[in-house]
Amino acid sequence: MVSSPMHDYKIAYFSMEIGIRNDIPTYSGGLGVLAGDTIRSSADLSVPMVAVTLVSRKGYLQQKLSDSGDQTESTDEWNPKALLDLAPKTVEIEIERGKVTVQAWIYDYKSTIGGTVPILFLDTDVEGNAAEDRRITDTLYGGDDQYRLKQEAVLGIGGTRMLEALGYRISKYHMNEGHSALLTLELLQRYEMDIDRVRRHCIFTTHTPVEAAFDRFSYELVRQVLGSEFPTQVIREIGGDDKLNMTLLALNLSGFQNGVTKAHMKLSLKLFPHYAIRAITNGVHSNTWTSQSFHKLFDKYIPGWASEPDLLVRIAKVPLCDIWAAHMENKKNLIAYIEEKTGEKLSEDALTLGFARRTTGYKRAKLIFSDLKKLRDINKARPLQLVFAGKAHPRDIGGKDLIREIFWYKRQLRDELKVVYLENYDMQIAAKLTSGVDVWLNTPLPPMEASGTSGMKAAHNGVLNFSVLDGWWIEGCMEGITGWAIGPSPEQEISEEERRKSELDDLFNKLRYLVAPKFYDDRDAWTAMMKSSIGKVAYYFNTDRMMRRYITEAYLR
Ligand SMILES: *Cc1c(COP(=O)(O)O)cnc(C)c1O
Repeated sequence: MVSSPMHDYKIAYFSMEIGIRNDIPTYSGGLGVLAGDTIRSSADLSVPMVAVTLVSRKGYLQQKLSDSGDQTESTDEWNPKALLDLAPKTVEIEIERGKVTVQAWIYDYKSTIGGTVPILFLDTDVEGNAAEDRRITDTLYGGDDQYRLKQEAVLGIGGTRMLEALGYRISKYHMNEGHSALLTLELLQRYEMDIDRVRRHCIFTTHTPVEAAFDRFSYELVRQVLGSEFPTQVIREIGGDDKLNMTLLALNLSGFQNGVTKAHMKLSLKLFPHYAIRAITNGVHSNTWTSQSFHKLFDKYIPGWASEPDLLVRIAKVPLCDIWAAHMENKKNLIAYIEEKTGEKLSEDALTLGFARRTTGYKRAKLIFSDLKKLRDINKARPLQLVFAGKAHPRDIGGKDLIREIFWYKRQLRDELKVVYLENYDMQIAAKLTSGVDVWLNTPLPPMEASGTSGMKAAHNGVLNFSVLDGWWIEGCMEGITGWAIGPSPEQEISEEERRKSELDDLFNKLRYLVAPKFYDDRDAWTAMMKSSIGKVAYYFNTDRMMRRYITEAYLR
């Protein structure tokens, strides 16, 4: 075997959640799916990478919804033994002054066109560990602050030690969000407190747009949990005065830092003006998120697109009627799936809008119901259908209320406008929804959506985005060409009240006078927009382009 020195060193990619397969439920939303897509593209591009995450034996959650939209959760248990191999080494961490043994399950993600990326799923359910410690890697985002800090210790510190124990030589540690930032402290100890040396090895991608959302821990808790690993005084100097701020810790010890869209970079620079935070805009893995019907179509007209999604720029070669036929295949599949799951039969002909993502306040899932009279009027002129999906975090009371409210609106509109809510949103449902509806609706409260990625999945399948100008859509939107904008551009200085009015005006007026008429009365123009969405959005907003940028700008620095 030929081996070059470069390949002896690997990029270690750390993420609290990774969505690599639908039957490995170790993700909760966009962050984990992005991590999965990062790994998929890295394998395609033969990037020497090893990924590190937690085994989350009980997953995130399984969602059940009552007839009135009350969410109940159960664990989403999976068996690592059935799918993964146990690594030959274990490592130890001192947590609350007791030794915790960490083992790792290895899953090799193999690209069909490139290389392999091993993923280490760290696990404290090891015989000999105290009962409480055995549960540290059970539930993704479960428990209280103390539980979370222990998880982050296993991820950052345990992960770094595990890589070393398994003989990996690491050139860069890439932290996908701040959850793994404790790895910097481990490296700091290893490099005898040489901060510059740690920085040369660390890359930090922030995903959080606002101060309030940063992961923070009191130093009292840090001392209690990690006091015997690291002196709290040292952490305080680099991790924040009053509390340990994981974003600040990661920023202070990374030589390369980036936000996930241009707008998110600007916001992050406002919060941290003394840091050189750049932007590498997110993407999705084209081969994964392109449906079967479009796969076939692209293979026929644009061979090579799957390993080189930039080729989708040549979409003009594909006839309109083929695009529409591929879309109708997806729409029929989705309608059949919805009937199977809910018993409700949607129409193949009606303009169908999709909205699916984590159900939490800032995503504003019920904005479309803000004016029922207008919604009814639009629907009378040209029929609409709405499909929703999304889980609320167990402690997110507002998120759970949102689901109930959508069910309430569903009842209000019964016999007039079909509203469907699919249970237990996951990657498989995401693939069906982002390819099977006609329009992908996105209404976050700016500037809360650092990027968003589901709209990029939609674009790969010719589904048109109708979205608030936030996150990636600021870069992706060309009005009337790739989709439509809801509300003002982020540059516009307006009051919250004016913003709200402009958003609602656009939502209802564009739906009534632009979106629905184009769909119903000018199918060729609609299908031409679908092509623009593929050729001008999908060709760029993919993780192949994204990873090439990480490689040249961060990994090879
Ligand atoms: C892509 C994806 C997301 C991300 O959706 P956003 O609209 O970008 O928040 C969340 N959950 C699942 C299951 C996904 O596949």
